[in-house]
Amino acid sequence: MRMAMRRMWGRLRQKRVKGGKRAGRRMMADMSIALTAPHVEAAERLRDWLQPFGRVFVLTGAGCSTASGIPDYRDADGQWKRAPPVTYQAFTGDPLTNARYWARSFVGWPRMAKSRPNAAHRTLAAWQGGRLSQLLTQNVDGLHERAGSRDVIDLHGRIDQVICLQCRSLSARVELQERLHAANPDWHGLEAATAPDGDADLEGLDFGRFRVPPCEACGGMLKPDVVFFGENVPRDRYERALEALHAAQALLVVGSSLMVYSGFRFARIAHEAGKPIALLNRGQTRADALADLKLDADCVAVLPAV
Ligand SMILES: [Zn+2]
Repeated sequence: MRMAMRRMWGRLRQKRVKGGKRAGRRMMADMSIALTAPHVEAAERLRDWLQPFGRVFVLTGAGCSTASGIPDYRDADGQWKRAPPVTYQAFTGDPLTNARYWARSFVGWPRMAKSRPNAAHRTLAAWQGGRLSQLLTQNVDGLHERAGSRDVIDLHGRIDQVICLQCRSLSARVELQERLHAANPDWHGLEAATAPDGDADLEGLDFGRFRVPPCEACGGMLKPDVVFFGENVPRDRYERALEALHAAQALLVVGSSLMVYSGFRFARIAHEAGKPIALLNRGQTRADALADLKLDADCVAVLPAV
């Protein structure tokens, strides 16, 4: 930053000699806007930090997708903004919680399905083949893949897929939406505010009346193919991510407070292995004390400027 400022002031002085006082003053005003824009400074600091590394492991979280209209769970202090998500135990063990989950998902899904990648997703896709060696995301929205990223590890699964808990077969969420639609004619046309992970803030209805179709192959219980709270990340997926982290030189975390342990442990492991860590996130993160560089800024504004 200091170097760039010196360069700009140098250029400004030359311009003043050529263009006189007024032009110089106008340029100074333009530049003070640019120089104080926090995302420009953050981009420059991140660029300097990235410079020595040829293989950077990037971990992304909800902050990467909020600009695509997908809300996150936590505030700037890393605290819950809303009721914590349904646990695996409640989803599988309590029929009313299960029906409530699917009723809310039935209303929230169409908006989720329409969300589009933003500048942060596109920038990370463009970094692939360059210094980005592996992209790991805690998001379940599939927006990195839709922006063109390849070999993404979806740590917590994908919301556009459904898994049968009995026969483990996978199917498309969009097909289940049609079956939910057919089974629940009284629930068409409901509107509710968008909540994280394809959920909607639907309340005060008799959820016991919502019909959830079972697996078409075996009659087993269906679940979105995402890792619920109270459930573990599948071992092979975790190990694949770990291997990629070990092969990388540094860890960059984008848009995550790392409050969930499954994400935080990658920062802990990187730190223990002596790999430098940079954090680009609005607000506090659980790994602030482990990082070499902490940028409290919006990744959608900063990443394209890097
Ligand atoms: Zn089944």
